[in-house]
Amino acid sequence: MSTEIRVGLGHDTHRIAAGGPLRLGGIDIDFDGHLVGHSDADVLLHAITDAVLGAAGLGDIGEMFPDTDPIHKGRDSAEMLSLAYRQVRESRWNIVNLDCVILAERPKLIPWKLAIRKRIGEILSISVDQIGLKGKTGEMIGAIGTGQVIQSICVCLLSKSSG
Ligand code: MG
Repeated sequence: MSTEIRVGLGHDTHRIAAGGPLRLGGIDIDFDGHLVGHSDADVLLHAITDAVLGAAGLGDIGEMFPDTDPIHKGRDSAEMLSLAYRQVRESRWNIVNLDCVILAERPKLIPWKLAIRKRIGEILSISVDQIGLKGKTGEMIGAIGTGQVIQSICVCLLSKSSG
């Protein structure tokens, strides 16, 4: 029996607009801003989706769910991630682990990190200890540091057993 492994990388940016709640990592965070996008603009779930698809060589979120298609307007990113991972599983790949970074000046993410990891675990049917999550600020400079955008980065390791 041999095990093949693949790594994938995802990155995303969304602009912040006034008025909460903030949908991030599949949960609604009590905050005075929200992210703007064609779907629900969940920047973390989009980065995870791209990392998972990229590791499996299955393209990216924009190819699977084009933002020119009105069907994806306001769409729940948890549903998109779940559908993307279903395709990855159909190619017999399984997630070993994810490690994610959220780059946001505000809100402070420490109180929300465990809830986000639990929600991602629920969406992907993996355990919380397979999901790393870090919050970083932008040191009050640039688009992140002045609170104009939130960005996310995710790496994903997949494995496939054969033989
Ligand atoms: Mg996005």
